[in-house]
Amino acid sequence: MLRAFCLLALLAFALPPTARAEAIGGYAAGCQTHAQPLPATGTGFKRVRAEKKRYYGQPQLIDYLQTLGRKAQQAGLPPMLVADIAKKHGGPFAYGHRSHQTGLDADIWLRPGNGPLPSRSKDMVNHKLYILNRHFGDDQRQLIALAAQDERVSRIFVHPLIKQAMCKTYGDAPWLGRLRPWFGHSSHFHVRLHCPPGSGSCEPQAAVPPGTGCGNELASWINDKSGALKAGPRQPWRPTLPAACTPLLNLQEPDS
Ligand SMILES: [Zn+2]
Repeated sequence: MLRAFCLLALLAFALPPTARAEAIGGYAAGCQTHAQPLPATGTGFKRVRAEKKRYYGQPQLIDYLQTLGRKAQQAGLPPMLVADIAKKHGGPFAYGHRSHQTGLDADIWLRPGNGPLPSRSKDMVNHKLYILNRHFGDDQRQLIALAAQDERVSRIFVHPLIKQAMCKTYGDAPWLGRLRPWFGHSSHFHVRLHCPPGSGSCEPQAAVPPGTGCGNELASWINDKSGALKAGPRQPWRPTLPAACTPLLNLQEPDS
């Protein structure tokens, strides 16, 4: 039995890189092979904005999202709404985020997913008063905590005020360090997984700093709101991609 498993494992690594699922390059300059689609619905989750066909991810990310959905349901939370993951072959989006290129990033809306499928996310921040609004509560805190506890997570981007709320509730939980304050994440949080084992062409991001990040680092984000004001359309992001991405990105994406 063990021998058969080893043989299989050997075979998997001996195959040419395009024959198995792989994240290639960096989160903001890369592509992916053999991505899987996240099903439209499943235990504890629903897909939103599916018409954009950005619901393909590496098998590890799809498994992560399905596992998180199950944990959310077990905790009695409403279904979570999963928005952009990546295109089937990855690569830059025509508009929107810079990352999400290797099938290891996913956006999860913070508004609850019970009732009819919403077409818009909901902001959790009163930007004028710079406080969290009434939409952010226990359900949101619990979902983010469940999301951050999975060891496969490299980091999760959240609005600085949301990080502050998580620090207040969860004190010195070791996974708090994975929550990274970043503007633009007040209606969704953005999960980024580590490069999966065996993805030799995947470029990891530097590890998050040690500690919870609830002290001085968070204070500097809360005090400096200059980045919060820089909204508005961004130029399309056209990075230089690894050579291995060229043939993949020449492949036809599913009809969109
Ligand atoms: Zn995102």
